[in-house]
Amino acid sequence: MAAYFLSLGGKIETGRWVTSIETLPSAKAYLFDVTPRQLLQIAGHRLSGLYKWQLKRYHYGMGVFKIDWALNGPIPFTAAACRKAATIHIGASYEEIAYAERQAAKGAVASKPFVLLAQQSLFDNTRAPEGKQTAWAYCHVPNGSQTDMTAAIENQVERFAPGFRDIILARHTMNTVAMETYNPNYIGGDINGGTIDISQLYTRPALRFPPYSTSEKNIYCCSSSTPPGGGVHGMCGYHAARAALKSVFHQT
Ligand SMILES: Cc1cc2nc3c(=O)[nH]c(=O)nc-3n(C[C@H](O)[C@H](O)[C@H](O)COP(=O)(O)OP(=O)(O)OC[C@H]3O[C@@H](n4cnc5c(N)ncnc54)[C@H](O)[C@@H]3O)c2cc1C
Repeated sequence: MAAYFLSLGGKIETGRWVTSIETLPSAKAYLFDVTPRQLLQIAGHRLSGLYKWQLKRYHYGMGVFKIDWALNGPIPFTAAACRKAATIHIGASYEEIAYAERQAAKGAVASKPFVLLAQQSLFDNTRAPEGKQTAWAYCHVPNGSQTDMTAAIENQVERFAPGFRDIILARHTMNTVAMETYNPNYIGGDINGGTIDISQLYTRPALRFPPYSTSEKNIYCCSSSTPPGGGVHGMCGYHAARAALKSVFHQT
């Protein structure tokens, strides 16, 4: 095998999470779609002391609390535009949203959280039985928080869609611990692979060029813990692959 790409494929193949590079097949290059904490666990013994120190300094951001709903019908948003939107950012005002986000960033739980809601079944009828709907939503909480945000999230939706609670048939909730169990990249519930602030925007996960490389020539990090970070689907992996092709395989 020329290169080993650790992602969901790694889990399916082995039936468990990869915890050490030594358990992987021999390869010319390894691209790890993981965050610094797992990279340290998986390949720390092959990395330099300085690089490991840099990875240990990496910090993670707010977590999320997520709910999936089975609904008896479409969400009765008062605003017509919201009844037609796939994704809705819920908050009464800019000030309310900013306050809620500041609270979560500071380690407190917001009573009126900023809620991000998706209602894809309105546009994709494979996602729910005929006449029914599905939706999910999340809000930010402090990293590692185990607070149950079900009522706070549903109150926020109900504010802008009176009658919402009456159409809930079933729900599934995930706090930050459940999020991390589901996907070890969600450290403390952080779905962005680490805080994106000025100190970790271009230098994630460490100050080096290219940032996808590590202190070991054939080991790369290609997750959202590298630039441009979470929320820019695929680009971290694209740039990491280019870096590995150039350095290990001498291809441009
Ligand atoms: C509910 C939700 C909504 C989101 N909405 C958006 C959105 O609208 N727009 C947006 O841009 N971003 C969104 N994101 C964030 C986005 O999903 C992430 O930023 C992005 O997927 C991160 O990419 P990644 O490659 O770093 O990690 P992931 O996509 O999480 O991929 C990492 C993969 O590696 C696997 N893995 C981890 N550790 C191991 C291990 N030890 N062994 C084997 N396999 C392992 C994981 O299971 C996973 O499959 C959302 C996230 C969530 C949870």
